[in-house]
Amino acid sequence: MVILLFFRIFFCLPVFVLTNVQANKLWIRKQVTMINLILFGPPGSGKGTQASKLVEKYQLLHISTGDLFRYEIGNDTPLGLAAKAYMQKGELVPDSVTIGMLRNKVAANPEAHGFIFDGFPRTVAQAEALDELMAERGTAIDKLILLDVGDDEIVDRLLERGKTSGRTDDRNETTIRKRIAVYRAETSPVFDYYAEQEKSVKVAGVGSITAIFDRLCAEIDTMALG
Ligand code: AMP
Repeated sequence: MVILLFFRIFFCLPVFVLTNVQANKLWIRKQVTMINLILFGPPGSGKGTQASKLVEKYQLLHISTGDLFRYEIGNDTPLGLAAKAYMQKGELVPDSVTIGMLRNKVAANPEAHGFIFDGFPRTVAQAEALDELMAERGTAIDKLILLDVGDDEIVDRLLERGKTSGRTDDRNETTIRKRIAVYRAETSPVFDYYAEQEKSVKVAGVGSITAIFDRLCAEIDTMALG
């Protein structure tokens, strides 16, 4: 009985206290620190799926420029009209249009604790504009996480998604290959841009959704705990 009491006091109590200190540290950091993430990777690498899960866990605002464009197209707005032809061809919408739209979306959410940018930035000019925008808000991009997936896997995934997503750009293999080529030529330099600021990391984007999510969380938690 006495031994059991000693065990409880000298072993269980310190473990309980330490575990809670660590959990509280993360919780407090999450409340006071803005975390601004770029979820990066080729089309079909799982950015949207993972962003939805991350938003729930870290209470960040998810901004997907692809979703914003599709919303504008769905509402037949001038912006949607301007973007539609580029999207159908698998090309990038011009920076002037995209950066303006992104700026408006960020400005409309002054209370956000932080952001997950998905599908933005896709050019170095967009990355520079994003850095400027974050600096104006007194904050900065903390990390860019690349979901690494090979081309053949991407084509298979997008053709599969095209059966149900209602996205015309997911149904045509030529458009898909064009989007991958645009990603390699125009978008992948954004990884190097943030690598120069020592903010770029790469995680394997293959395996189960949960396994990929765990890899992302491990990266974010390392950052949050400093
Ligand atoms: P996504 O939903 O991210 O795959 O984007 C679908 C399409 O929207 C892309 O193929 C581009 O035509 C356009 N788009 C989305 N985000 C951007 C961006 N940051 N810059 C230029 N075009 C974009």
